[in-house]
Amino acid sequence: MRRFLAGFGGVMALLAALFAWSVTRRTRPAAPGPERPAVQALPAPRDAVPAVASPSPDVAVDTGDLARLRARSLLVPVEGLEARQLRDTFEDPRTGHVHEALDILAPRGTPVLAADDGVVRKLFTSRYGGLTVYQFDPSEMYCYYYAHLDRYAEGLAEGRLVRRGERVGYVGTTGNAPPQTPHLHFAIFKLGPEKRWWEGVAINPFPVWADPHPS
Ligand SMILES: [Zn+2]
Repeated sequence: MRRFLAGFGGVMALLAALFAWSVTRRTRPAAPGPERPAVQALPAPRDAVPAVASPSPDVAVDTGDLARLRARSLLVPVEGLEARQLRDTFEDPRTGHVHEALDILAPRGTPVLAADDGVVRKLFTSRYGGLTVYQFDPSEMYCYYYAHLDRYAEGLAEGRLVRRGERVGYVGTTGNAPPQTPHLHFAIFKLGPEKRWWEGVAINPFPVWADPHPS
C-alpha cells in the first residue's frame, strides 16, 4: 500500500511538473516568424460619397468636355502619384448610387494638390465626404471636388486662387472612408448655368488622364 501511495505521489508530481512546463511554454512569447511583407494589398474603399450633391438634369455633358479637360493638362491631385497608377472606379456601385469619382489610395498625410488653377469656391464638411474642397476651374465651367481630407492646407480659404500643384490638403479618412484605407475621393463635375458648387453633372476624370493615343 505504501509503495502504491509513493508511486501515486510520484505520478502526481510528474503530472504537476508537466502541467507547469506546458503553461510556461504556452505563455512564453512566440519566436519571431518569417518577415511579413511591408506592404499589404489594400481593400478597395467602399465610401458612398455622392460626386455631386445635387445632380442637375439641365447640364449636358459631351465629348467636348473631355477634350476641354484634357487640354487643361490636369495634375494627378495626390503628390507622388502618376496617371498610370490610377484605377477607374467611376462606375463602381455604391449604396444607392454610382460612385462617379476616383478613389486614389495614398498614405494618410500625403499632400493633396490642386489638379488645376482656379478659385476655392467652398470648404465644406459633410457626413460622407468629411473635410472637402470645391474648386472651380478658371472658366468656371467645371468643379473639382476633393474629399476625405485629413486636414486643409495651411492658409486655404474660400475665394482664394490656387495654382495647379499647390497644396489644398492632406489625404485622410474623414467622412465615411474606411479608417484603414486613407484615400482621396476626387470628382469633376460640369457646373450648371448658376455656377452652384453643389449642382452639376459628374464627368469621369480617368479618361482625362488616360493616353488618348496608346502605342
Ligand atoms: Zn470615393
